[in-house]
Amino acid sequence: MEQISKTLMNWASILEQGTREQAETTATMPFVFPHLALMPDAHLGLGATVGSVIPTLGAIMPAAVGVDIGCGMIAVRTQYTRDQLPADRRPLREAIERAIPVSAGASNRTVSREHTRERLEQLTGLAERTRFEPGAYAGRWELQLGTLGSGNHFIEVSVDELDRVWLFLHSGSRGVGNRIAQKHIRVARDLCEKWWITLPDRDLAYLAEGTPEFWSYIGEMRWAQTYALLNRDEMMDRVVRQFAEWVGSDVERHEEINCHHNYTEQERHFGKDVWLSRKGAINAEAGRPGLIPGSMGTASYVVSGLGNALSLNSAPHGAGREYSRSRARRTFTREQLREAMVGIEYRDTDAFIDEIPAAYKDIDQVMADAADLVEVRHTLRQIVNVKG
Ligand code: 5GP
Ligand code: MN
Ligand code: MN
Repeated sequence: MEQISKTLMNWASILEQGTREQAETTATMPFVFPHLALMPDAHLGLGATVGSVIPTLGAIMPAAVGVDIGCGMIAVRTQYTRDQLPADRRPLREAIERAIPVSAGASNRTVSREHTRERLEQLTGLAERTRFEPGAYAGRWELQLGTLGSGNHFIEVSVDELDRVWLFLHSGSRGVGNRIAQKHIRVARDLCEKWWITLPDRDLAYLAEGTPEFWSYIGEMRWAQTYALLNRDEMMDRVVRQFAEWVGSDVERHEEINCHHNYTEQERHFGKDVWLSRKGAINAEAGRPGLIPGSMGTASYVVSGLGNALSLNSAPHGAGREYSRSRARRTFTREQLREAMVGIEYRDTDAFIDEIPAAYKDIDQVMADAADLVEVRHTLRQIVNVKG
């Protein structure tokens, strides 16, 4: 760990200059308390750095959570080992792709939906209690439940160090969460303009605690976080169902973990109740299980938090990008991606060139930087990868 300034602690040994400056700027906001913690996977984000932990007192910056409110990971360990699986994994990949569409639409309506109704009722109830109407400005949120989203949202079948089979997926609050985030980022910007508040970056616009706009954001953000959690549950149910059909018997669910890596919660740190925003970071309080994905062709980790107080009980949420998407597209080829994906069942397309493992930081280095934040419980290697 390196102390960059009074309000900025850094765990990243691979840190691009622009990212460092962005984090320094955010750390100067007067309501940051006690300090911002930069995670090993830190890279440039919109407004605030991805891979940063931002505790604030009396105010909140909607951009500190980002546009995918509640984005995170879910994993379960099955009772299967690798040698018990059918040899041809392609039918499983295709079945998963059919069962979990990338976006809302007719195909998501036709998927069997045993649990969906219960989850939708839960979300409707939560919205009613806060008098919030997600449909009013966010469209078809009901149909978005159970959809993966694009970019680097993914579903994987992986094996751990004992060859046990895990199901693993990454997604968030989909279009509805995005609309909620965009709305409040805009409200914060408008308010800061209205009050002649000068900001080092307009994406750092904030809402002051006590104002109606602040509580409206908190309420809707919490709803979106619940939505993301239930969306992952829904998708995991569908993955388990497809996997069960493929292996031809029931699937047991062990060591289930469902955790956000883009979210805000009120937590106590250094003697104060702060609004803690983890933008691309996981909760790593002592003993807490967490998930750190690597990339589509490298290892991922099931971890346990070490409760490092200076890090505000946090840990990285992945390897973190080293190349922007456009630079990765200019640098790497589909042939190189194929070489990185030998032995993994995936959809071979140009669309994933910018997701090549080499576009991300070296996950081994990231995990070494995180040695005082988490302890590794399991190391996962993917055998099937489905990308959004
Ligand atoms: P983010 O939430 O910031 O969009 O990305 C989370 C992390 O997931 C990335 O930093 C990267 O390390 C990891 N990742 C991206 N794509 C994949 C994938 O296909 N499989 C796995 N296991 N990890 C991935
Ligand atoms: Mn996301
Ligand atoms: Mn994410």
